Amino acid sequence: MIQISPDKVAERFMRYVQIDTQSDPTSETHPTTEKQKDLSKMLCRELLGMGITDATTDEFGYVYATIFGNSDKKNIPAICFCAHVDTAPDCSGTSVKPILHRYYDGTDIVLPDDATQVLTTKDSPYLKEHINHALITASGLTLLGADDKSGVATIMEAALYFMQNPAVKHGDIKVLFTPDEEVGQGTAKVDMKKLGAKFGYTLDGGDAGSLEDETFSADGATITISGVIVHPGYAKDKLVNALKIAGAVLDALPKTEWSPETTSAREGFVHPVAVNGISEKATLQFIVRDFTVAGLQKHHERLKKIAEDVVAGFSGATMEYAIKEQYRNMKEILDLHPQVVAYAEEAIQRAGLTIKKESIRGGTDGSRFSYIGMPCPNIFTGMQNIHSKLEWIGTKDMAKAAKTIVHLCMIWEEKG
Ligand SMILES: [Zn+2]
Repeated sequence: MIQISPDKVAERFMRYVQIDTQSDPTSETHPTTEKQKDLSKMLCRELLGMGITDATTDEFGYVYATIFGNSDKKNIPAICFCAHVDTAPDCSGTSVKPILHRYYDGTDIVLPDDATQVLTTKDSPYLKEHINHALITASGLTLLGADDKSGVATIMEAALYFMQNPAVKHGDIKVLFTPDEEVGQGTAKVDMKKLGAKFGYTLDGGDAGSLEDETFSADGATITISGVIVHPGYAKDKLVNALKIAGAVLDALPKTEWSPETTSAREGFVHPVAVNGISEKATLQFIVRDFTVAGLQKHHERLKKIAEDVVAGFSGATMEYAIKEQYRNMKEILDLHPQVVAYAEEAIQRAGLTIKKESIRGGTDGSRFSYIGMPCPNIFTGMQNIHSKLEWIGTKDMAKAAKTIVHLCMIWEEKG
């Protein structure tokens, strides 16, 4: 029986959320905000304090540490557990005041610093799973930062468990904390060689039991339209305005399908994100999303055809269509190493939970890790209503996540 107390994880979590670690999408430095290092340094000190002697943090704000294997088996791969220290730029993360609601009774929770912020079971039905248990909210002025300090806290608690229970057998366990995940830079400066892990898991998911092994595959597409430019005073029957053609292309896109605002679940889409230009030349930028590369290809062909048909109606105008790969569905890599997801499923079940398999309509650090040598699905921590003032988390979910980590390491050892 693995003993991990929800109260202890909660205490740890509440300490971490009070440190402001908001990242900044407009910054060009690494990390994007210096203050993220405040938490990284603290985590490094705490890991050293547990007796994890190789814990280090670098100038970019990453934390690396190893819990060395204690098993006689020699072929157990090194497994990484990863969480991000930063919080989302969408909502303030300054002076977060976490509130522990020790015995949640199912009634509305009015946040004390802004009475318009009310958590209800109607809007957040998952609250019902936590009646008579403890949960944590912010105070109404900031986000809570459960995304992803709950991941940080559960990994730290699991690390402490291994250091205090040397009889529990495991291979090398790598701890990794990253900056700037929320601004898409979480893997920008990571040193995969220094990390030295074969497989990984991010702790950055929602409901207890959820396991995400699939993300979008993503491309950018740029349509460049060239018109015909002539002095406007003498342009009759000669001038062709690229801006008007760009407008016509946008207008020719379907109105009731094939867009972020009209799709869900496993449907892909194209989405115009920027229009630039002058009357001579205009560019349209799109993001293109699907769960398969074949699906992406179909979207490109359809978009290109729509644009070509529009441009063909303007004599003398020409266009170019360029594709830029952005990221790929982690499932294509994970399917080559089925044990990574299978062991996570087994660990979640051993922790007493039912598995909820989910697909992410976006990318994660895990999708990037999967393509730079570390296949890496995502595991729950319990976080809810992320990136908002109504963010909350149940303490029993965090304890279950920490137990899932411990079980996972034991399973890798058993099968090794
Ligand atoms: Zn996150």
